[in-house]
Amino acid sequence: MIKLIQNIDVYAPEHLGLKDVLVINDKIVKITDAGSIPQITFLSDAVVIDGTDKILTPGFIDCHVHILGGGGEGGFANRTPEATMEGLTKFGVTTVVGCLGTDGIGRDMCALVAKAKGLNEQGMTAYCYTGSYQIPVRTLTDSITKDIMMIQEIIGTGEIAISDHRSSQPTFEEFVRVAADTRLGGILSGKAGIINVHLGDGSGCMELIDRVIDETEIPASQFLPTHVNRNEMLFCKTIKYALKGGAVDFTGNEDIDYWETVRDEVRVCYGMKRMLEAGVNPHRITISSDGQGSLPVYNEKGEFQGMGVGQSSSLLKEVRECVNKAQIPLETALSAITSNPAEILCLKRKGRILEGYDADLCILDQDLQLTDVIVRGKRVH
Ligand code: ZN
Repeated sequence: MIKLIQNIDVYAPEHLGLKDVLVINDKIVKITDAGSIPQITFLSDAVVIDGTDKILTPGFIDCHVHILGGGGEGGFANRTPEATMEGLTKFGVTTVVGCLGTDGIGRDMCALVAKAKGLNEQGMTAYCYTGSYQIPVRTLTDSITKDIMMIQEIIGTGEIAISDHRSSQPTFEEFVRVAADTRLGGILSGKAGIINVHLGDGSGCMELIDRVIDETEIPASQFLPTHVNRNEMLFCKTIKYALKGGAVDFTGNEDIDYWETVRDEVRVCYGMKRMLEAGVNPHRITISSDGQGSLPVYNEKGEFQGMGVGQSSSLLKEVRECVNKAQIPLETALSAITSNPAEILCLKRKGRILEGYDADLCILDQDLQLTDVIVRGKRVH
């Protein structure tokens, strides 16, 4: 299967300018100046895509999705449905990292790994974290370290909840043991061994993570805390942590109007701008959707209307906001959903338009609207 994307403005996510990109089977094989690869239509199965006035980006990586569904916090009727490949790729997501959530009983690690395997078999790329909100972590094998070493799809632990009324209220010793076991699993398997931490609204904020960094040999780079933009106080603390080398994950919202109604939550685009202005390394910032999680829906009077379900559409919407509202360069905004999560999570051959990398690609128009999605060399939308 050969695809030639001609004369397209490439953001790799660095801006490379007008290029021709040759894809053979599931890999990016050649990237050259526009016009330098001749038409290959004489090959019977070759597809030529005219990229004039279009933008080519790496496929998006959504690094925090409840792929088995989430919710259930108001009882069984509030459980949300599983993610589907179609539901992810139609928003440009070609790689997903799945997690459980509050509920690690009604959904377990067997089901989570099986779901990730299913998405991989369907043609996209899926990884997952071992565990749920709770400590002790309920693993698939007999330990966190073994899960990460021996189960291909498992790349770390998460989402472990801290500073949240739904967490296990872990002690420092319990939390640091999880971090150490996860780090060891990463070291022994060549994976990232990241601890994905759910930050709640509690006054403890980042305290447990800060103590691990200050009191042990475990570095800040071992953690990827999520929901950093949950409230102003927490956000300010995460800036300090990011300045020590930690990575931070913003939670996007697919309903961009939602940001007009929030009081204490930090709008992703302005939060990212503030991080960059504070001197945070732009490669240490990610945006994820918290997809398939339950989202309370309110009417204009602020009355609870029921539960919605998060979707990965938020990734590109937040990137557009970063560019249009916060004047963040497109390549910087894009890196938060492509090369940054790939680097932080050590996802090999992902997140960049580079020769030898997987052919996970999105084509956008000039208004940054998605027009085509290519997943491991196959055009799916
Ligand atoms: Zn969470």
